[in-house]
Amino acid sequence: MGVQLMSSPSERADVDCVVVGAGVFGCFLALHLTRELGLSVVVLEREGALLRRASYTNQARVHNGYHYPRSILTGLRSRVNSGRFLREYAECVDTTFAKYYAVARSRSNVTATQFEQFCSRIGAPLAPAEPHAQRWFDMRRIERVWRTEEWAFDADALARRMGADLAAREVPVLLRRNARALRSTAGARRLELEFEELDNGRTRAIAADHVFNATYSDLNGLLSRSGAPKLALKQEVTEIALVETPEEFRRVGVTVMCGPFFSFMPFPARGLHSLSHVRYTPHRSWRDREVEFDNQEFLRGLHERSNCPQMMRDSARYFPAVERFVQRDALIELKTVLPQSEQDDSRPILFHRHTELPGLVSVLGGKVDNIYDLERELAPLRATQPTP
Ligand SMILES: Cc1cc2nc3c(=O)[nH]c(=O)nc-3n(C[C@H](O)[C@H](O)[C@H](O)COP(=O)(O)OP(=O)(O)OC[C@H]3O[C@@H](n4cnc5c(N)ncnc54)[C@H](O)[C@@H]3O)c2cc1C
Repeated sequence: MGVQLMSSPSERADVDCVVVGAGVFGCFLALHLTRELGLSVVVLEREGALLRRASYTNQARVHNGYHYPRSILTGLRSRVNSGRFLREYAECVDTTFAKYYAVARSRSNVTATQFEQFCSRIGAPLAPAEPHAQRWFDMRRIERVWRTEEWAFDADALARRMGADLAAREVPVLLRRNARALRSTAGARRLELEFEELDNGRTRAIAADHVFNATYSDLNGLLSRSGAPKLALKQEVTEIALVETPEEFRRVGVTVMCGPFFSFMPFPARGLHSLSHVRYTPHRSWRDREVEFDNQEFLRGLHERSNCPQMMRDSARYFPAVERFVQRDALIELKTVLPQSEQDDSRPILFHRHTELPGLVSVLGGKVDNIYDLERELAPLRATQPTP
């Protein structure tokens, strides 16, 4: 269906849904709305391509449960979602490296036995690490090491695949459009979204029955510009370092659990390894409700110094070869977190219907394969659609 954009607010655009934000969540939403629910959809994105923000700037881990010994439900859900993600996006996932998890002897929130029990409860494969792999670690600081099954996704491949799926469904994706504000129209039955075309500075508007705010670190920006109350979200300025490893570790990933430790693993989109550290990846944080500034402007104004040297120094105490890693880049991005998920490390999705702007839904997911959790939330929408 062709989409009619409005040059004046009185004209009506013929579209059921607008999705703001073409990260992995916005793209999946748009596909689901059109493919499963038969709705007409337009996607609006500020960047010049799909998946350029948090969906690219992250550790690229396809979580398979191991990471969540403090939340069994998240671990179980992760196992289900990762299997499906691997099946449906196989060409976007690197499964060809060996992934090890280790538990530290001190300062760890789990013991090796507790970690084994947790993995057994969620059915996550765990085998003692091979002797050559055990020798990589400083076993005075590490209690036990296991070979696991965990993979990395290629954000560029995922962008290409989601773009092709959207094109096949003829879903218009309007790039370089900055969503500014929403308001109710037609006696609160429809929503009108005002946006700026960044290439020519023109302001346009589009009307729809439903608008999905899938803007991650700009969720509250769009809400407050629309006069709606902010959601209780925390923002963290984070750093994922990109490093080159010695040849021996090119096909290796390691995560030390569970506390102030580190993780490195292939980052397929760049042919490098990501390195993150629980203490040094977060640079600074705030709660949206406690600040007035615009998150995106604030991020653009930051000139963060990389914490990679500190990450490497501390990680090398457990895995001495990290000393020989060479830093190639640092990816700085805002991580948007639901405050309640900090208690138990769970990553539920937020699917918030705004009563003050009927038809508006804000969506936030804590990890990429959580996209599948959207389906349950979207099911009621099917019930409200007239049968053709
Ligand atoms: C440091 C870090 C490490 C992580 N590690 C992992 C991991 O290993 N595995 C994992 O599964 N998850 C990980 N995550 C979480 C994961 O990255 C996010 O859950 C996921 O990418 C969120 O997708 P999204 O589509 O909501 O956000 P985004 O990809 O950020 O998409 C939002 C889109 O909205 C657009 N947008 C924003 N405002 C506007 C506007 N006003 N108008 C138009 N467009 C707008 C943005 O340009 C962007 O493209 C990590 C996150 C971070 C920050």
